Amino acid sequence: MHESSSIRKVDVIIVGASLAAAAAAKRLIDAGLETVILEKQALPRHKICSGILSPRGYRFLLENFGPLPAETLHAPTSCRGVTFHFPCMVPMPMDFFGGTTPHLHRKYSDHWAIQRSGAEVLDQTSFISLRNNGGHVLVNARKKGGAELQFKARYVIGADGPSSPVLRSIYPNYPKQIPWFFVGQKFHEIIDCPLDEDYFHFWFHPELGHYTWSHARDGKQIVGVGFKKGDNFHKRHQHVENYLRDKHGVHLKPADPDHEGCAENFGPSLLNRYVFGQGNVLITGQATGFLNMIGEGMSCALHSGAISGEAIIDALRLNQPVQDIYRKMISSEVHNTTDQWNPLKIAFARPHEADFPAALMALPRSERIKVMKDIWRFLVLYKEFKWGREIASRSMERLLYGKYQDHRWL
Ligand SMILES: Cc1cc2nc3c(=O)[nH]c(=O)nc-3n(C[C@H](O)[C@H](O)[C@H](O)COP(=O)(O)OP(=O)(O)OC[C@H]3O[C@@H](n4cnc5c(N)ncnc54)[C@H](O)[C@@H]3O)c2cc1C
Repeated sequence: MHESSSIRKVDVIIVGASLAAAAAAKRLIDAGLETVILEKQALPRHKICSGILSPRGYRFLLENFGPLPAETLHAPTSCRGVTFHFPCMVPMPMDFFGGTTPHLHRKYSDHWAIQRSGAEVLDQTSFISLRNNGGHVLVNARKKGGAELQFKARYVIGADGPSSPVLRSIYPNYPKQIPWFFVGQKFHEIIDCPLDEDYFHFWFHPELGHYTWSHARDGKQIVGVGFKKGDNFHKRHQHVENYLRDKHGVHLKPADPDHEGCAENFGPSLLNRYVFGQGNVLITGQATGFLNMIGEGMSCALHSGAISGEAIIDALRLNQPVQDIYRKMISSEVHNTTDQWNPLKIAFARPHEADFPAALMALPRSERIKVMKDIWRFLVLYKEFKWGREIASRSMERLLYGKYQDHRWL
């Protein structure tokens, strides 16, 4: 990349106009830093997501951006909690701590938060490449239609989601080092659906796939499936649709044509293998690998995004390397996220925002045993990734040192 005379100088470039970006931008703008967000899509942009915000994420939005306007919500506008289902057909509904949470319409909630951050946003502008020059970063972007833009930024934040082009530009081989999953969802008109629409429904069922869910949205029912990349989405979805009909009495019309799917980097949170960047390039949100239990990623995107912004502010104030500061500050979010996958924490410390151990103990003993057996059979589905030993080691590490080791991060 050559440095042209039309290069624009800014304090921070953020790539991606999502929730992590909004949180980072809010911190930077409040500190008076010139911040430009690049978003490849036209805004407001669509984002595949169930939109169930955790109570912690909800608090963050309220505290930082204020009350949510009506257009940022889907119907039903709130969610009471999560219901787990198992092959033994014992349902486990669990309410979120602290009451219901909003059901976000990501197209409008993300745009609202981005606007509230006060940052300048260039939409239909794709990040193409960067060069990390020690004291600054040269960024190359392209406006839809072909115009090239160049920036000289003191810092860059990659808030560009699981497939993160920013991450790939500094660690080109990283995507080959983790397993990739595909998640896809279809929308159905409802004939009859006995699943309680106040809850997000999740199946621990090895024959249905690695990640199977359903919930109501805007008068329709979403049926979603997740599996290791390479399998057939339509067959998988049909199998789940049949299962819901046969076992739960869910009668749906054929799916609408507008189904959707994407690749997910599920795994790094379990193993404390996050990517936080290099030099003055910070990675944040789901791009780092942050993903909470049952795929909840908005709260950790918001919190990690804010921390990336705070790290830059501190780096400038203290004149210290931003990566050192970011990696210290981000450990709170690493604890919060990786604890959710830590068997010792799950058994003894309630790391989730609904009380799984209490719901399990409330079941009659015979049902509890059936559920435990079904959970075990479900976990065996993940055996091929050989995560068991790593999760056990990370849990012991957390017990012995009180933290997850940062030498496993990139
Ligand atoms: C099917 C599904 C259901 C989910 N349900 C939930 C849920 O109910 N609750 C929950 O909390 N989480 C859920 N998640 C996860 C959640 O959506 C993500 O964890 C969260 O959106 C991550 O936010 P982010 O800010 O890191 O990035 P993202 O939301 O992924 O946004 C990244 C942005 O970067 C932009 N971008 C990418 N490349 C470029 C480029 N080259 N140049 C410029 N811009 C670029 C993208 O267009 C996008 O706007 C779900 C995910 C999926 C796939």
